[in-house]
Amino acid sequence: MKDNGILARIAYAALALSIAANLWFVGRPGWALIPAMLAGWYLADMMSGAIHMYMDYRPCRPGVGLDRLYFYEGSRESDDYQALFRRTMRRIGPIERLVFDFKNHHPRPDALGRRRLWRQIGSTVIIATLPASLLLNLLCLAAPGLGLAVPGWLVGGAISFLIGGTFAQYFHGTLHRPHNPWFVRAMRRTGLLMTPQAHQIHHDTLARDFSTNCGWSNPVLNRLFNHLQRRGGMDRRGLEPGA
Ligand SMILES: [Zn+2]
Ligand SMILES: [Zn+2]
Repeated sequence: MKDNGILARIAYAALALSIAANLWFVGRPGWALIPAMLAGWYLADMMSGAIHMYMDYRPCRPGVGLDRLYFYEGSRESDDYQALFRRTMRRIGPIERLVFDFKNHHPRPDALGRRRLWRQIGSTVIIATLPASLLLNLLCLAAPGLGLAVPGWLVGGAISFLIGGTFAQYFHGTLHRPHNPWFVRAMRRTGLLMTPQAHQIHHDTLARDFSTNCGWSNPVLNRLFNHLQRRGGMDRRGLEPGA
């Protein structure tokens, strides 16, 4: 997906409008809004970690040349690599591309930090958070007619979840970049985002700390990972594309 293309602009505008409408439905939520938003933030972190864990260990499709891209020895700026990249990507679907992206991130982590925003979050917005936010709009609109009331704190928690989910790969990218905007630094100081040092544990082991927003869900997901590995899942051979 092209950065700053028409699709990106429409998606950003639609998501912003949809979230603004959801904010309006929060109304006067009272004290419960704060814990609900923290819970939403925690769940977004957990979602980012669970998807990351799955993508890291799901084997790439063999026989399409993903191993040649992954282990390419020359410059990745070269015409040869770029042509090989385009040829290979045409042979696989969007999910397989994401699977490859996650694995390719391990040996070349800084590339994620250099990417434009749309390249980082575009697929998340289109596939997940924009449809989810629109669905929440519909639910809030339709609820009164059905004799239901969606509590403001619940909408607030959902908004926090949607924002954390939308920007998960952007936040991951900030962990691989020396210079970041003020709000990222402020959120790190308050613990709402994790630090590069904490994320480095994932890159050193590839077997723990998959969550990359605030990292609050890592203790739980690490236990799940260990449990799956004891049962024979999460085979380390899945971490790199095979021939
Ligand atoms: Zn990983
Ligand atoms: Zn990383």
